[in-house]
Amino acid sequence: MQVLAKCPRCDAALPVDGAQAPAAITCGRCGREIPLTFSDAVRADTAVDRCPVCAGADFYIRKDFDPKLGLTVVIIGALISAVFYWFGRDLIAYGILASAALIDLIVYGRLKDLTVCYRCHTEFRGSYARSAAAFDLHTADVLEVEYERRIGRR
Ligand SMILES: [Zn+2]
Ligand SMILES: [Zn+2]
Repeated sequence: MQVLAKCPRCDAALPVDGAQAPAAITCGRCGREIPLTFSDAVRADTAVDRCPVCAGADFYIRKDFDPKLGLTVVIIGALISAVFYWFGRDLIAYGILASAALIDLIVYGRLKDLTVCYRCHTEFRGSYARSAAAFDLHTADVLEVEYERRIGRR
């Protein structure tokens, strides 16, 4: 699986190949050495059971959404409909706006889920079975504080 490790010091996103399972990576932004401990399941892309960065076992699922892509569809739709609006074809303009929103919805529905670590926000993408629950704010509050204390950011 593809692991996007988050640097504990500067929050840089560092892509790591789970199959290669390096014992440590160096942050490209701040130069910090980040030790990684890959579980067998993460290495084999069967499940996300333990975070290689913080060793936490609490994860949530969210859509792998690229906000830039969604915004582009909406902006292009708005531009095209503005042209029709300008020429007095209101109905067509509204129709195009509506279909842009619809395309957005369809794209969103087809997105795959990715798993995110509550503590250090490392992201996991792969063909493993998704077992984590949806995001829970209370859990996030508790675990983020715990982790930040541990790495000395609070
Ligand atoms: Zn860093
Ligand atoms: Zn983690």
